[in-house]
Amino acid sequence: MERKIRVLVAKPGLDGHDRGALVIAQALRDEGMEVVYTGLRQTPAQIVASAIQEDVDVIGLSCLSGAHNELFPEVIRLLKEQGAEDIVVIGGGVIPDEDIPFLEEQGIAKIFTPGTKTKDTADFIRHKVREKQGSAEPLMSSPEKIEHIGIAVKNLDESVKFYTQMLGLKLVGFETVESEHVRVAFLEIGETHIELLEPTSEDSAIAKFIAKKGEGIHHIALKVDNQQERLNKLKEAGVQLISDTPKLGAHNNMVAFLHPKATNGVLLELCQKADTAELSDHADKH
Ligand code: ZN
Repeated sequence: MERKIRVLVAKPGLDGHDRGALVIAQALRDEGMEVVYTGLRQTPAQIVASAIQEDVDVIGLSCLSGAHNELFPEVIRLLKEQGAEDIVVIGGGVIPDEDIPFLEEQGIAKIFTPGTKTKDTADFIRHKVREKQGSAEPLMSSPEKIEHIGIAVKNLDESVKFYTQMLGLKLVGFETVESEHVRVAFLEIGETHIELLEPTSEDSAIAKFIAKKGEGIHHIALKVDNQQERLNKLKEAGVQLISDTPKLGAHNNMVAFLHPKATNGVLLELCQKADTAELSDHADKH
């Protein structure tokens, strides 16, 4: 079983109000995390000692006294001194916007201002902890292969002519995906494919892509098994998805996309054959 994320919610400094900290502690418990609360008026040294003793992944600092610019960096410094800098530190409370860049520069992973949804805080924590554990077990096994590379084109017939007659690729077939307003050509190249996509309407995502960036590589599709389970895991880890559930795309593939924000600017598709029965039926046509 996967270890639950452990969080220390701590109140450094002299202010005597912990309602906000208690609300956050409970909200993170509701998100499935184990939360330890230090109580009021802790020194940075006490907080760091508790964090190490409790073996937490994250420290959430809450400060209302205005002394955050001294207290928060001191927690970071002590963590480093004790070799515990792998603990993620986040902050909240009454913190003026102009102090945030300084605190983040000092090593606070993120400052959450009042009004942040606790769900967003929890997602951020999951994402950060996963990132820190980068050298540990990956979230999932490797996709099988690159199933295809999607290229946005203005004129499908001309593009197909180029790829088949100039480059010698084998045309697998044409298909129109009404729901996506695209006409698609699949070309075979070794174990993978090139998918040429031509918009059939201005509402098409491909039309918008071409209008913004011109023709070019639109997405990379990774062939996977357990597609839904993988999407769930990614979502749970705080990875931004375009949609939570796959839908039927071209070539009898169930498709789902990861947001380019999460993938260094590349639209990544996870795809899986809808099912083998449909596959053989489809293959017969060619
Ligand atoms: Zn695709």
